[in-house]
Amino acid sequence: MTSYKNLEEYNLEITDEVKTRYRSIINEIGEDVDREGLLKTPERAAKAMLFLTQGYKQDAVEILEGALFKESYDDMVIIKDIELYSLCEHHMLPFFGKAHIAYIPDGQIVGLSKIPRVVDVFARRLQVQERLTHDILECLNNTLKPKGVAVVIEASHMCMMMRGVQKQNSVTTTSGFRGQFEKIETRSEFLKLISSDLS
Ligand SMILES: [Zn+2]
Repeated sequence: MTSYKNLEEYNLEITDEVKTRYRSIINEIGEDVDREGLLKTPERAAKAMLFLTQGYKQDAVEILEGALFKESYDDMVIIKDIELYSLCEHHMLPFFGKAHIAYIPDGQIVGLSKIPRVVDVFARRLQVQERLTHDILECLNNTLKPKGVAVVIEASHMCMMMRGVQKQNSVTTTSGFRGQFEKIETRSEFLKLISSDLS
């Protein structure tokens, strides 16, 4: 599934700057930045952070527009259980889970692998789950111009699990619907299909 290009080349200047900041942070929390195990940590942490926020440099519309095909199929297309990893913008801690996406084509379909890529483009930024849901929904709606689009995200937030309320098992669900999915029947069919194992 991940046959697309991830950011593996790092801008040296930015990486260096972030690395310097991580050195100070490690020092401030009371660690010895020069002990052996931590020698390469500021650089690794900088690269990890830049990787996890590479979505700022990617264009979801361009990804979709590169794979649109004329097609008369006009039933619901569902891609469920799309793995999702993002960073909450309040604590810069991960939140992760699954996205379930459906659309009803209106004369054109999109290459299926592009939809998880769109999820990644918006997830690899500082986000809140509500806006992430909305970003994906609007992007698909404006670019694919389908008869309807639906996005459901279920995610666990490390900021809730590791600190704060320490609720280990809580899952936050957000959803957005456009077009035909605003109708109760279509929406319930979608929700039924994503919760069944047979779909
Ligand atoms: Zn948070």
